[in-house]
Amino acid sequence: MANSSKYLLITGANRGIGLALTQIYLDAGWHVDACCRQPFEATDLNALATQYESLSIHALDVTDHAAIDALAQSLSGKQFDLILNNAGYYGPKGYGFGNTDMDEWRKVLEINTLAPLKIAEAFYPHLLATKGTFAAVSSKVGSMTENTSGGGYIYRSSKAALNSVVKSLSNDLSSQGIIAIALHPGWVQTEMGGPNALISADESAQGLYAVLESLEIKDSGRFLNYQGQEIPW
Ligand code: NDP
Repeated sequence: MANSSKYLLITGANRGIGLALTQIYLDAGWHVDACCRQPFEATDLNALATQYESLSIHALDVTDHAAIDALAQSLSGKQFDLILNNAGYYGPKGYGFGNTDMDEWRKVLEINTLAPLKIAEAFYPHLLATKGTFAAVSSKVGSMTENTSGGGYIYRSSKAALNSVVKSLSNDLSSQGIIAIALHPGWVQTEMGGPNALISADESAQGLYAVLESLEIKDSGRFLNYQGQEIPW
């Protein structure tokens, strides 16, 4: 295991890409503050905690803004090199134009769009001293350019708005040395991606890790996939 004194905060760490990322950063010697909604039910994450003293688990529903503030306060002595906004929700599948569920749209926006900015605001002091990185796991379906097939109003709009948040964070914070980046993890075999997806959560997370490790301040404001390739906005 590499020896590192680097610190990661990650959301949605109990399964899928978030769990795979957590494992990779722990293996690389990072200290990881891993957030999930139900720590007592997070079997795989708790198993990692028995192996790594450098893993701390926190209960966090990212739509609970008071809880985000409370967590930031409770971790106020800590500086993070990386904050990974991974938690995400697709919302209803298989609907088309004409029957959008507005309540589900609000819920998806709360998780995919509002929460990352709330976390950036609450944890900004924790990133400042390290000149750390704020990374958002977005999706290429949030790209305007790549949207040639239509549909997917709810999820697409939530990730497009997230990309806009990342771009503004980059414009506002890169002069202070903080990198803001949007990432596309690929089409990944998770509960969200489904069994027919092209790559495993581990392959995606390995790629994302390599991309994040390679970042420099000039990369702030970019939208990259797990192979480091640029995705058009
Ligand atoms: P999963 O559905 O496997 O995992 C989603 C994670 O988000 C879970 O840990 C879930 O926690 C958490 N989450 C959902 N809602 C909340 C909430 N309100 N508060 C806290 N945590 C929450 O998805 P993936 O691992 O595939 O997705 C990870 C990220 O990658 C997401 O942002 C997704 O949009 C993005 N992505 C995924 C793709 C894919 O092909 N899989 C493609 C492009 C982007 P819980 O277990 O409590 O529900």
